[in-house]
Amino acid sequence: MSIANLARRVVRALTPYQSARRIGGQGHVWLNANEAPLAYPFTIEGNRLNRYPECQPAEVVNGYAAYAGVNPSQVLVSRGADEAIELLIRTFCEAGEDQILICPPTYGMYAISAETCGVGIVEQPLTASRQPDWPAIADRLSDVKLVFLCSPNNPTGDLVGRKGLIALLEKARERAIVVVDEAYIEFCPEGSVVDLLDQYPNLVVTRTLSKAFALAGIRCGFTLGNPEVITMLAKVIAPYPIPEPIAQIAAQALSPMGLALMQERVQELNKQKALIKAELLRLGCVKEVFEDKGNFVLVRFTDGAAVFAAMKAAGIILRDFSSKPGLDNSIRITIGYQGEMDAVLTVLRDLSNSTP
Ligand code: PMP
Repeated sequence: MSIANLARRVVRALTPYQSARRIGGQGHVWLNANEAPLAYPFTIEGNRLNRYPECQPAEVVNGYAAYAGVNPSQVLVSRGADEAIELLIRTFCEAGEDQILICPPTYGMYAISAETCGVGIVEQPLTASRQPDWPAIADRLSDVKLVFLCSPNNPTGDLVGRKGLIALLEKARERAIVVVDEAYIEFCPEGSVVDLLDQYPNLVVTRTLSKAFALAGIRCGFTLGNPEVITMLAKVIAPYPIPEPIAQIAAQALSPMGLALMQERVQELNKQKALIKAELLRLGCVKEVFEDKGNFVLVRFTDGAAVFAAMKAAGIILRDFSSKPGLDNSIRITIGYQGEMDAVLTVLRDLSNSTP
C-alpha cells in the first residue's frame, strides 16, 4: 500500500488546480495564466525580518481601503484571492453539511476549495447569454451558505449583471453570503459592485494584486465585506499571512505612483486587447470571440486542438478550455505586450492560410 493512501479520500480523488507553472513543454510566450506581461519595479527597505510581521499590515489594509473606497474595517489581506476563497468556505461552511453554489464555466478554485474542505457543491450553469441564472440561484438559496460569482468571469469575460445581483442579495439577506470575485475588475472598473457593500452585509467582494497590479509573484489578495464578516475571517486565517517584504511591495503598489503605473498598464493592455480582438475576428480559423472585460479573451476556433498544438509548437503557452461543457474548441489567450500578441497572430494567420 502506498503511503499516499493515508491521505483523506477527497484529496486522493481530487484533480488538482492546473497551476500556471505546472505545465508540460517549453514555452517562451506565457499567455495561460492572466498575468501581467512586464516586470514590476520595486525595492525593499530596512531589515525587520527577525520579527514576525503584522497579522494585517496597516499600510496595506489602509492603502487598499483608500484605493477601493471602503473603510479599513471592511478589508482583510490574504495570500492571494485564492486564500480568500478558501477562508470564506472554511469560515462559513460546516464540512459534511453545508454547500456552496457556483456558476460554471467559472474559476476552478471555488470547487477545489469546497472539495478539499469537505463542503458540497451546487452547480447552476451560466445561461446561454453567459449570465448567472438568477431565478434558479434564488431557488437554491436555502440549500447553500455561499454563492460564488465571478465578475468579469474567468474564462468567459462577462460582467455579472448588477440588477440581478441586487435582487439576489435582497432574497439572500441573512440566509446566504454572495461572493463576487473581482480579480479582473481593474480592466473595467465601472463594473465593480463594491459600492453595494454598505447596503448589503451579505455581499463579499474578493480582489487581488495578481492581475492589473502585475504582482502575481507576491501572492497578495483582499476580501472586502461587512466588518462582522471580516472579523470572522480574521479568526480563521493563519497567523502572519503576509510576510514583511510582501507588505512593503504591496504598499508601494497602492501608493499614488503605484496606482498610476497600474492604470497605465491597464490602458495599454486594454488597447492590445482591442487590437487582437479586431484581428481575430478577421481570421478564418476563428468562430467566436467571447466577451472581453478582463485581461484575456476566450476564443472559439474551428479546430481548437490544432490551434493549441500549433501554439505549443511555437513555444506559446495558452489555456485550453475545450473540455468544459459549452466551450468546445475554446482557448483562453491572456493579453500580453505587443510582441507577444504579434507572435500569437502569426501562428493563427499561418494556420488560417494553410486550412482550406
Ligand atoms: N479569482 C479569479 C477569477 C482568478 O482568475 C484568479 C487567478 N487565476 C484568482 C481569483 C486567484 O488570484 P490570486 O493570484 O490573488 O490568488
